[in-house]
Amino acid sequence: MDYSRFISTKSSNRMPSGISEMSSFLDEPSPSLVWLCSGMPSPEKFPIREMNLTLQDGKVLSITPECLSAGLQYGPAPGYIPLVKQLKTMTKSLHSPPLWEESDLLVTIGSQAGLWMAFEMLLNPGDFVVVQKTCYSDVLCMLTAVTPQYLAIESDDEGLQPDCLRTALKEVVKNGSKNLLKALYVVPNSCNPTGTSMGEERRREIYAIAQEYDLIILEDDPYYFLQYDEKPPPSFLSLDTDGRVLRFDSFSKIISAGLRVGYVTGPAMLLERLNIHMMTSVICGPMLSQVIISTLLQEWGEDGFKKYVVNLHQFYRDKRDVAIQAAEIHLTGLCEWIVPKGGIFLWLKVPKVADTTSMLVKRGVKKNIVLVPGKYFMADSNKPCQYMRAAFSCATADQLMKGFKNLAELIREEIALQNAQIIDP
Ligand code: PMP
Repeated sequence: MDYSRFISTKSSNRMPSGISEMSSFLDEPSPSLVWLCSGMPSPEKFPIREMNLTLQDGKVLSITPECLSAGLQYGPAPGYIPLVKQLKTMTKSLHSPPLWEESDLLVTIGSQAGLWMAFEMLLNPGDFVVVQKTCYSDVLCMLTAVTPQYLAIESDDEGLQPDCLRTALKEVVKNGSKNLLKALYVVPNSCNPTGTSMGEERRREIYAIAQEYDLIILEDDPYYFLQYDEKPPPSFLSLDTDGRVLRFDSFSKIISAGLRVGYVTGPAMLLERLNIHMMTSVICGPMLSQVIISTLLQEWGEDGFKKYVVNLHQFYRDKRDVAIQAAEIHLTGLCEWIVPKGGIFLWLKVPKVADTTSMLVKRGVKKNIVLVPGKYFMADSNKPCQYMRAAFSCATADQLMKGFKNLAELIREEIALQNAQIIDP
């Protein structure tokens, strides 16, 4: 593929950091190498000498002195080398990307920073980006900063609707703006906020449309490992025969959100650019976090990691079941929802309330219940929105029951207020 039309002016203007480029000589240094190159602090003065990690089962993992010293130092922009190797092995085994030899992988500061770098790399102001009409709110916030034109597409219980996507793309082409079509953003598994997961056929159809209209797909998949009951269908990365997919993974929902470790996989040519964004913005990701993740993955091995993930499924599936039970008891007749197959969100529609925002923002806390108004997830936030998002990941069963009971009262009050306004405008 020729990627030149996809690189924004801002991205083309980014110059690689000379110092970071020189640092690649440190990847496999000879013992006699005298390094007078980068402005690294002296490891002799690092105040931390030892680090041990106590795991949930009581086992203690010692971070070796070499790993600790790498963790406390600046590191390569693409990531801590042992971790990059582990992630490549894992990605190859899970997704078998057809163009693996021409692909690369870069560790990012959570997947969010990866997404931001990718949007900045791909979009000039006024370019078209495809999103779901109901979209992860932080992506809408970061996209707003790049001032693209949205192609906001209707979704159903499998996510983006291909027919609506085709219609919108045809319209752009008809208006002579095909050249401005650049990117398609999608959360294929347990979408935030809708909780929907995309089946294989739908994925193939969307990939074919991206081929037809020459779009780069940004596959944002932080809930991949949180599909409770069955293995997710093939990822967009595993369908990518052209080199048009950038896949974003994250350890936030499965190991720690505070460590801020995610990674992006995709065509080496685009990853090379993202690497420049990385070295010229944040220098490198958090090295100590990467050392910790690498040590855990090393300790678990492939089978241990699988077991760990299965245990997470059990935990979050139970939470989901309690959330659904609480919703059935308290919200039946007031809200509608689909049961998510994974992830941590319940997307609630309140058919009798025109817009959930004021009820949640102005009166929710007083009723001891806080949810996110659906409006924040709408590509067009000017329209009223009957939805709201509940995250069931951290609440206890008791809290979920009480919370939804309070929510039911809040909704009833809102309906009464609405009716009163209709009678006495
Ligand atoms: N994408 C989606 C769909 C998310 O839900 C989140 C986290 N809420 C992110 C990206 C960001 O994840 P990270 O913590 O890896 O930056």
